[in-house]
Amino acid sequence: MKSLLIVCDGMSDRPIKELGWKTPLEAARKTSLNQIAKTGICGIMDLIAPGIPPGSDSATLALLGYDILKIYSGRGALEAIGSGVKVSPNDVAFRCNFATVNEKLVVLDRRAGRISNEDASKLVESLQRIKLETPSVRFLFKNTIQHRAVLVIHGPKLSTAVSDSDPEKIGEKVLEIKPLDTSLEAQHTAKILSELVHKFHEVLKKHPINKQRVKRKLLPANFILCRGAGVIPKIRPLSELYGIKAACIAATSLIKGVCKVAGMKLIYVKNATGTPQTDFLAKAKAAVQALKTFDFVLLHVKATDVSSHDGNIQQKVEMIEKIDNMVSYILNNMDLDSNYLAITADHTTSLVTGNHEGDPVPIAIAGPYVRSDDVEKFDERSCAKGGLHRIRGTDLMPTLMSLLGKTKKFGT
Ligand SMILES: [Zn+2]
Repeated sequence: MKSLLIVCDGMSDRPIKELGWKTPLEAARKTSLNQIAKTGICGIMDLIAPGIPPGSDSATLALLGYDILKIYSGRGALEAIGSGVKVSPNDVAFRCNFATVNEKLVVLDRRAGRISNEDASKLVESLQRIKLETPSVRFLFKNTIQHRAVLVIHGPKLSTAVSDSDPEKIGEKVLEIKPLDTSLEAQHTAKILSELVHKFHEVLKKHPINKQRVKRKLLPANFILCRGAGVIPKIRPLSELYGIKAACIAATSLIKGVCKVAGMKLIYVKNATGTPQTDFLAKAKAAVQALKTFDFVLLHVKATDVSSHDGNIQQKVEMIEKIDNMVSYILNNMDLDSNYLAITADHTTSLVTGNHEGDPVPIAIAGPYVRSDDVEKFDERSCAKGGLHRIRGTDLMPTLMSLLGKTKKFGT
């Protein structure tokens, strides 16, 4: 017996006027998603707790069964690991953006005009040559996609208790990096990060690539904004917790990072991009294939969250319909008499606010011997009437593992 968990990022939503007060899930044509609800057991799920909007990192850790209130240690390290950068246990990592600032350090563009990978790579070569004043500390700076980058600081006595430099708004000045507690480690890390950010700026503002960019009427990438200080969470891999072989199919580096720290094998899928243009069918085929080798496969789709953050109603409905198509392939190629298929979202992302919200998400599990209920449709309000009732994110993994016969008895 195997289990496939499909996580559709930010798919859950609120009823909206433009859809006649339906949610995008209620408005979309989705026979295959409904099929899971019809044959399975349904419910709603608070990833962390009612009313708490989860980040995609904490939500995915919760879905994998980890108590994020105990183990959460920041986003930066997960993002770095997911983009293929080596992060050691005590390294502190940050998510970074190439940005454009004016001479008063006011942010003009947080993405430096969505700088090309090629330009960013050339700038990184120069930045990586910078020497720090503290010889025991080293750093690694790597661009990932377009304006995105990661920074890993390696050395003794580091801390994640440092503030972000990213004001996360255009027209505001870059924030001063400060220690967030009174420890020597926090002061030391804030000093190193400030020094780096300052030296990055000095190199970038004179860099020939940026001079060329200005000539080409492009925004210069003259500042590195940092946020989300994090270390690797201290967690036991799923293989140890449940005795399973687990794999993940995801395109976004954050989700890949989360799955990697949980000891899951990352499966690369060509043309899986983490955007609305992703190859849904290729992901479905990879998932079906992976179930031949792995006991548990997490299939993550980012497109629904992208549409929600952009406030694009039609696109979100369309993405749900494409997911339905993807699920149709899976249903036709997966034996649900001997395997389990679960589908859910990692959080609600509202098309109206463009933000993650604390509303619960729908969940459905189909497979042998599940106590199927009367729910016939996979959406927020229909699933609320299901047999799973209202569970927490950390309840899902034990529920699935119990169906697979992988949980241990508590007591004698
Ligand atoms: Zn998410």
